[in-house]
Amino acid sequence: MRIAIGYFAHETNTFCPGTTSLAAFRETQWEEGEELIRKNRGVRNDVGGMIAAAEWLGIELVPTLGTTTQPSATVSTEAYTTIRDEIFARIRAAGDLDAICLTLHGAGSAEGIDDMEGTFLRELRAVVGDEIPVVVSLDLHGNTTQAMLDYATALFYCHEYPHIDMYERGEEIVEVAAKIVQGELKPVMHLRTLPVAIPPTTSFSGPVKAINERCFAWEGKPGVLDCNFTHGFPYTDVPVIVTSVLVVTDNDPALAKEAADDVAAYALSMIEDFRPHLPDAEEAVAQALAATDLPVIIAEISDNCGGGAPGSGTHLLRALLAANEPDTCFGFLVDPATAMQAHEAGVGATIPVRLGGFTDELHGAPIEAEAYVKCLTDGRFVLTTPMGAGQLEDYGKMARLVIGNVDVIVGTARSQTFDEGVFLLHGIDVRRVRIAALKSQQHFRAGFEPIAGTIIRCDTPGLTTSNLANLPYTRITRPIWPLDPLPEG
Ligand SMILES: [Zn+2]
Repeated sequence: MRIAIGYFAHETNTFCPGTTSLAAFRETQWEEGEELIRKNRGVRNDVGGMIAAAEWLGIELVPTLGTTTQPSATVSTEAYTTIRDEIFARIRAAGDLDAICLTLHGAGSAEGIDDMEGTFLRELRAVVGDEIPVVVSLDLHGNTTQAMLDYATALFYCHEYPHIDMYERGEEIVEVAAKIVQGELKPVMHLRTLPVAIPPTTSFSGPVKAINERCFAWEGKPGVLDCNFTHGFPYTDVPVIVTSVLVVTDNDPALAKEAADDVAAYALSMIEDFRPHLPDAEEAVAQALAATDLPVIIAEISDNCGGGAPGSGTHLLRALLAANEPDTCFGFLVDPATAMQAHEAGVGATIPVRLGGFTDELHGAPIEAEAYVKCLTDGRFVLTTPMGAGQLEDYGKMARLVIGNVDVIVGTARSQTFDEGVFLLHGIDVRRVRIAALKSQQHFRAGFEPIAGTIIRCDTPGLTTSNLANLPYTRITRPIWPLDPLPEG
């Protein structure tokens, strides 16, 4: 059996200015042909799972292209068409294929294309026809559309946030594709959309944990292949942003609808539990200083590169520097100019810095300070968090600066902080500090919950705020909770 694989993932934050270029994809992750297999074998991501399943099932994989970049502005026409055409050309050149397995995101938007995944799948069908199974894994922040259902054979979203189950979804789509080819499965899907936009909410506790348990109970019933509470992505201002329940059954549409309706009603019954109550930067630092279970991790959720924010915002850093307490650190601030300045000055130098705040006014003004250059690195390390373990990260030139009593790491590339790796790279053992501050919405939990005494999430003015009422929506479909009351019925 021969299955073509590939991935094309972008989480589009339409509130970011400009467009996301082809160069951004090429510079972040661009894996062609055999490189796609070589770089992902054993990595805890979707493609790693696809490779593992294919190897134990004896399936020949035909690798096409894998590319992604940090969540950011609307994908440019050039980026979309180039990536699409590269994947299609490799599929055309592959010869006889039994199935196609792809990882997409679900929250992609390109110039003039609100629903990038639905459009991509429709255009793929024009190339490969209607008969071949196209089985897709996605990120639970995807906005599911009718076009995606119409043109994919089956869609499997990850269930966990942090996304620690991407590897299992990768395995699953290859296993499902193989069973479809062998005539053992005939997936049918039912989508139930909810009139809500939920702020990013972890599945490790709270309402999503409860909703997932209900989904998993349905998955335990015969005939249910997948039952997924799909969060949607509230930072894509397009008419199709949706939280939804998507159920895949083995040729049983009534069962799929029954499960979707049940989970949807259950989720709506606890919608108020999704309303965030988060401290601002000053309050978060005050709470951290009062905490006795150490270390305290403070996550600035509203300047999360993983949702499209710049990562150079200064609100939380300013509050931490003002406290000026020993054994406190910040990892990390995206600030290429300061990282370069530190590398040019060298270890042991004291330099005047102007930290962050260079993209817009929303994320705070630059911070001027005297900084001691403690160490310099190339920004490369391997993730150890269950989400993506084994993956090489490369944040470019980085530096550990000391400002007063606070250690501040600055870096070149945009990324959220997933695990302690970026601290260790700079000689900081976060297990032994009092407060470690970072920028991440929820993914940090997978790496830090096992080692943190206290976790505090803080919401400052930023592009990934949990206070959705602060976002300048113009295109989403109304009414939608929490901007509007939950519609009756
Ligand atoms: Zn996600």
